[in-house]
Amino acid sequence: MAPSAPDDADIAAQSAPPPPPPPAPDARFDAQSSTDWRETLRQAGTRRPDGDAGAASLPAQPTPARTSSPAPVSPAASAASLSGVPAVLPDWLAALGVPAGLEAGAARVQDLSPDVSALPSLEAVAQHIAACQRCGLHKTARNPVPGEGHPRAELLCVGEAPGANEDMQGRPFVGEAGQLLTKILAAIQLGRDDVFIHNVLKHRPPGNRDPNPDEVLACQPYLLRQIELVRPRVILALGRFAAQTLLQTGTAIGALRGRIHRFHGVPLIVTYHPAALLRNEAWKRPTWEDVKLARRVLDAARAAEPQRSFE
Ligand code: URA
Repeated sequence: MAPSAPDDADIAAQSAPPPPPPPAPDARFDAQSSTDWRETLRQAGTRRPDGDAGAASLPAQPTPARTSSPAPVSPAASAASLSGVPAVLPDWLAALGVPAGLEAGAARVQDLSPDVSALPSLEAVAQHIAACQRCGLHKTARNPVPGEGHPRAELLCVGEAPGANEDMQGRPFVGEAGQLLTKILAAIQLGRDDVFIHNVLKHRPPGNRDPNPDEVLACQPYLLRQIELVRPRVILALGRFAAQTLLQTGTAIGALRGRIHRFHGVPLIVTYHPAALLRNEAWKRPTWEDVKLARRVLDAARAAEPQRSFE
């Protein structure tokens, strides 16, 4: 069934607006300095020098024969340079004719944190997060926000960090941006109960300040373990922070969109953060294109592997 437009989010209903401007550059995330959280992660050994994601502990998605060459890249997409390891898509993904993006996911939970790696369920991860003192954010946050949703969700959304509403309720994406996210998901026939939603950080940074590298690093085992346990068919990275963290790149979000990346073998689609859409309506149209792509990938994954294995 073709996805239909959300009622009042106007995601799809807009008539061909002018091409959206890219989000304003953020010096913090693009800076190549020692305060760059990506650099911190790399120094912590979360990226294998050969860039091979093959030893990742997450299960790969359906693995029919891999293509010998990357998926065809449109002229527009090929013009945008990606910083990172190029993804090689399996045939069933390459058949969609969407440019391949980056291959990421060298970090293994068991290497980063054996105790988190041993947690057997999402509930156990949430309990661990509730007692977490791996960084200082627990001191200022009211509640942990581990994430929520279907424990076997086929689509998993990753945001940046809890805001004030999320901190109050201990639930992700419950404020205005969260309501918009709910509409966006509904537009591709997914309810909140169908998906799993969480953030890179599990506690709110005070005053919604930008996450620090040490906080991203401290929370990474939880993020990875949750993805391992859910085993989604598709990951939707919401906004630059989530996208750059997962893909371990400084590439701008405008160049990351419109491609199929892979994170531990799971197809990953990048889109704008719902909060950005609230600030700039022009980003609704490209967001609609992104979520339609996520839906296409989900449908293709279902066709390639009708029954998911959780063994
Ligand atoms: N923004 C995020 O990135 N995550 C939330 O949970 C809420 C707002």
